[in-house]
Amino acid sequence: MFVYADNAATTSVSKTALDAMLPFLTESYGNPSSLYAFGQKAAEALQEARETVAHFINADPREIYFTSGGSEADNQAIVSAARLGARKGKKHLISTKFEHHAVLHTLAKLEKEGFEVTLLDVHEDGVVRLEDLEAAIRPDTALVTIMFANNEIGTVQPIAEIGALCREKGIPFHCDAVQAAGHMPIDVKAMNIDMLAMSGHKFHAPKGVGVLYARRGMVLTSIIEGGAQERGKRAGTENVAGIAALAAALKESCEHMEENTAKIIPMRDKLFAELSKIPHSKINGSLEHHVPGTVNMCFEGIEGESLLLMLDDQGICASSGSACTSGSLDPSHVLLAIGLPHEVAHGSLRLSIGEYNTMEEIDHICETVPKVVEYLRGMSPVWDELQKGERPHLI
Ligand SMILES: *Cc1c(COP(=O)(O)O)cnc(C)c1O
Repeated sequence: MFVYADNAATTSVSKTALDAMLPFLTESYGNPSSLYAFGQKAAEALQEARETVAHFINADPREIYFTSGGSEADNQAIVSAARLGARKGKKHLISTKFEHHAVLHTLAKLEKEGFEVTLLDVHEDGVVRLEDLEAAIRPDTALVTIMFANNEIGTVQPIAEIGALCREKGIPFHCDAVQAAGHMPIDVKAMNIDMLAMSGHKFHAPKGVGVLYARRGMVLTSIIEGGAQERGKRAGTENVAGIAALAAALKESCEHMEENTAKIIPMRDKLFAELSKIPHSKINGSLEHHVPGTVNMCFEGIEGESLLLMLDDQGICASSGSACTSGSLDPSHVLLAIGLPHEVAHGSLRLSIGEYNTMEEIDHICETVPKVVEYLRGMSPVWDELQKGERPHLI
């Protein structure tokens, strides 16, 4: 059995999204900037997509900028607010310790340029506290950037409260909503969000296309220079097919959100219930404030990487949330941010499921993971020491 349980990493392209993009790859391939009618077909598709995206987050179409993905949208939002702030002598930026690297690395780059960055604690439950944010805000704060839902542990932040506080203090608020878009309701007006990032491939559109929402009045800095596309804020011939697919996929996800959530929650709950029976295991992040499909757990005495490789042999695609695969031995910055010791964070497993998964697949995971964990513990010197009482159990 093949089970794809890594939907937080990427998703398959839906039939709806594929159907929406195909005409712009084949018959209607004109450049939307051309003056002839053939190009205007593509320009109309762009406008329609802009209206669709705007509608589903309660924005104005003129506030929607198409980008190459979530990373670019995060980069542009943060750099824009920093440049805007610097012009007014404001060089303090606030974020959290467990943001995506698209946010953290952009902040680190600005720090080298002389900006000051405060990263808020996310506590054991993976949720930012409003009072921590309030205490961090200074007269020279130029931006607050906090993610909607975390990509590794799935915890959801009090976005409306954060937005209200930022609006009251007159500070621009950017939200990386890549894990929430298409999965949870987003209303940029009600939530007082000034900028927001989305990525198509996290909700069944293709990879390489995303959205930056920027409220009217937010002055954007171009990251990519060139032509006057996207009202002069993002140069480059538009990815018309990808954009059409993104809009179609967002529409489909938003229109079926309740139904999808109702399908996903019982599968997720079964994973939590069954995998929690494994001795010395731990669920990571608050379950109260959670996206529907993300399950993150730690199993003591094993390495997340070994677990993933063995699950792969059993046809299960999952993720560890640890950065070991990229050549670093550091465990996930997210798991460390919620206070897990290094040894525990190394034994992590992220399963992220979507509406295309089935209960049979969940059963396969629930049967396989305990066996693999037991097998790996059988070979683990660390587990041996834990069993002999030579080192204390941490979970
Ligand atoms: C995937 C992801 C991104 C990056 O989006 P890309 O389109 O892959 O560049 C940014 N933030 C979060 C929270 C993500 O999950």
